[in-house]
Amino acid sequence: MQDPTKSLQIRVRALSMRVDERIQEFRAAQRNNVSLVTRLTAHLGVIALVLIGLLLSGLQLQAAQQPRTYNQPTEPSMDMPDVNMAQPDASGDLKIVTVPYTSKPKKDRLEVTTYVVQPGDNVSVIAARFGVTPDSVIWANAKLEENPDALTVGQPLYIPPVSGVLHQVAKGETIQTIAARFKAQADAIFNDPFNQSIHDFKSAPPILAVGGWIMVPGGSKPIVARQITRGNITAPGNALKGTANLQWPTSACISQYFWGRHPGLDLANSQGTAVTAADAGFVEFVGWDNTGYGNMILVNHGNGTLTRYAHLSAFVAQAGQSVQKGQLIGRIGTTGRSTGPHLHFEIIVNGVHRNPVGILQGRTPGRCNR
Ligand SMILES: [Zn+2]
Repeated sequence: MQDPTKSLQIRVRALSMRVDERIQEFRAAQRNNVSLVTRLTAHLGVIALVLIGLLLSGLQLQAAQQPRTYNQPTEPSMDMPDVNMAQPDASGDLKIVTVPYTSKPKKDRLEVTTYVVQPGDNVSVIAARFGVTPDSVIWANAKLEENPDALTVGQPLYIPPVSGVLHQVAKGETIQTIAARFKAQADAIFNDPFNQSIHDFKSAPPILAVGGWIMVPGGSKPIVARQITRGNITAPGNALKGTANLQWPTSACISQYFWGRHPGLDLANSQGTAVTAADAGFVEFVGWDNTGYGNMILVNHGNGTLTRYAHLSAFVAQAGQSVQKGQLIGRIGTTGRSTGPHLHFEIIVNGVHRNPVGILQGRTPGRCNR
């Protein structure tokens, strides 16, 4: 109760994450525009000189006579759809369409929103759209805790009103036990307007509605360690080994980056796009994975390095063969838990997932439009 600014801080943090994102996008856009800006400045300089010349020679420039009219600023419509409305195109492939961010700040939501997963979605994109952290989306949907990639089109997801843990109250729980369980402040739970609209906080002690949602702002759950599924063929002595210089396995845009619970990159391009080995190595596994990866290839590059290629539509390589760096091994698809054609790509070094950005040689592809 002493800290009513806590939930505000959490909202501000979520908002600042989005602002950060926008700044990065803006910077990236600016980098491409530098030469244009320089040229524009030069043109403006020339125009300024001409104007000074005209004034000095005694000519007067007539201001435009007609009065200017200004349009009333219009409020953006509140019922604009804010979801990815991608529809299958004529070829049957899913198209990823841009969902522009609205410039108006989103109103604080005071309810748990149910969002239906759209083609091309992933947890990062959905979280950004609602101004909450990706973790918050995962915590509100228990199934996602084991595999954050386990999204399918049409699947309903709970979206919490703010960042933190959205929890369903069980019998016997109190604000204090819930705060302790999710490592959060009891005050933050008590002061949350969403919680106040659901539970009886006016009673002393407060009465929680069993089965009702309770928002734990700033709360967290431990990361469920994700098992690294592997093939069971061991590389023979004469199998090709990697060069340790890994290259991009496909040409694509990045639809989801590597983050705490997403141990790889999502590289989006159309169905059938070539997928090549990031480095020379031995193909340990080719086949179906039922944890969500769908059609999957695992390449062992020796020295404890593995690469994983998931959601493939077709296999070109076979288990038990050696492949050269850059060799065609499969094709982009959307098999397994996937919302549209993309390659889910992982680099695992000595059992630890590593961020491919910074390891893969060559130009890093841009973020996909969304
Ligand atoms: Zn992925």
